Amino acid sequence: MQNRGKILIVEDNPSNLKLIRDILIFQDYSVIEATDGKIALETIEKNYEEIDLILMDLQLPEIGGLEVINRIKNNPDTKNIPIIVVSAHAMESDIKKCYEAGCVDYITKPINVQEFIKKINLFYYKTV
Ligand code: MN
Repeated sequence: MQNRGKILIVEDNPSNLKLIRDILIFQDYSVIEATDGKIALETIEKNYEEIDLILMDLQLPEIGGLEVINRIKNNPDTKNIPIIVVSAHAMESDIKKCYEAGCVDYITKPINVQEFIKKINLFYYKTV
């Protein structure tokens, strides 16, 4: 089967991680995973050439999601990788910060599976 692209999931909650992974694999994406902000930055540094999209939780151990986003966007090697935030319903100011940092979309938890699939697929088709 043709693979649709590689997505990095940054998520520390095991059941959320499993849900997102299962959805993406069922949709024929390939996934890599990071369970805290530090691992996320290390993973991106090693794999940035093959990562098509990053799904980013905000509440993360070690380094918070917004800080990770800022570091990705301030690194010339990684700044063009699109980032979609996947996080619990946050204050509008937090969501605004994500967009200001350069994220392309914000998906609210708990994840609505149909909506999630639709957003990822729409986004993916838009970028290829
Ligand atoms: Mn979290």
